[in-house]
Amino acid sequence: MKKLGFGCMRLPVLDEQDRSTVDLEAVKKMVDCFMERGFSYFDTAHRYNDEASEPAVRECLVKRYPRDCFVLTDKITFNYIKKEEDQWPFFLKQLEICGVTYFDNYLIHNLGSTFYPYAQKYHTFEFLTELKEKGYVRRIGFSFHGTADVLEQILKDHPETELVQIQLNYLDWEDEMIQSRKCYEVARKYGKQVIVMEPVKGGTLVNLPEDAKAVLHGCNPDGSLASWAVRFAAEKEGVLMVLSGMSTLEQVEDNTAYMSDFVPLSEQETEALQEAVRLIRSHSEIQCTGCRYCVTECPKHIAIPDYFSLFNNYKRLENTSYTYNQKVYYTNLTQKNGKASACVECGKCEKNCPQHLAVRELLKKVAEVFE
Ligand code: SF4
Ligand code: SF4
Repeated sequence: MKKLGFGCMRLPVLDEQDRSTVDLEAVKKMVDCFMERGFSYFDTAHRYNDEASEPAVRECLVKRYPRDCFVLTDKITFNYIKKEEDQWPFFLKQLEICGVTYFDNYLIHNLGSTFYPYAQKYHTFEFLTELKEKGYVRRIGFSFHGTADVLEQILKDHPETELVQIQLNYLDWEDEMIQSRKCYEVARKYGKQVIVMEPVKGGTLVNLPEDAKAVLHGCNPDGSLASWAVRFAAEKEGVLMVLSGMSTLEQVEDNTAYMSDFVPLSEQETEALQEAVRLIRSHSEIQCTGCRYCVTECPKHIAIPDYFSLFNNYKRLENTSYTYNQKVYYTNLTQKNGKASACVECGKCEKNCPQHLAVRELLKKVAEVFE
């Protein structure tokens, strides 16, 4: 199987203010292009696109292609599970929403130090094993956001795990908080197949500062910025799949073009990437991926990732006239969302943040700049 997977978490929408308004016609074209070019792996979850991802998968993929032509991964997400008995109905509902009778892969969503205790309490690994024995799923595992020591503990406790989905990209490879390399090495030590998520770090690596971009284009003028990120992840041994959360047909066309005939990075390209990392780090102040896990429980409805993105842009553009734009965007966003200064420091966002960002402190910086 080709190593590029279609991540269905950032599907195109008709109304940017409402992520559940998935543009189904656009998604159908994207799916068709992906399939025509020989790719077949799709990844969804109940909460993606504000719960509109699974229905979009049914309409754009399941209803239009024979079931044995594609591989579908779904996940059990603890935000929807309040007790052990909730797991079966949640799973059966997912099958129904997606319009399938089985999932090829079924993962526990977002394990790490916060949610692993829930998996233990609800016997979720045992539940997944039961699903597999009954033929409802073919392979089981979990997606993981946490440190390598926690990953090692989970893999020791649960040898039944087949797949480990981790955040792996060239910017986080040596990052002490995300620990991409260390997590990858632990997964391989235990002989697990690795699925890569966030290879472009939520779009950060396709929106590089000019100096980093120049280094990469200077080395390979034909390669898109996404291609550097996806190739970096795909070349690692034991990587089964690299997921790309695609939002446009152009992204599907680009990704499938360079991944149709995948070529690992050359020595020269690897060096260029290291230099780009150095330059990117010197620009981005907040390492937010835009996953939006932080916003769901915020009592003040603060648009945390949007503000962080504006803040990073502001810092990148500092000393140019474009910083004004960022302030305008900020003011617009605060019409429908709480301001950064509205934070009551309850800490719920930080509990949900896979990047372990100090959201409360960072919001103070945002308020300082934009308010
Ligand atoms: S700490 Fe602030 S930003 Fe975070 S959830 Fe609470 S109010 Fe929202
Ligand atoms: S602050 Fe954390 S949880 Fe919120 S979008 Fe950014 S990375 Fe995701």
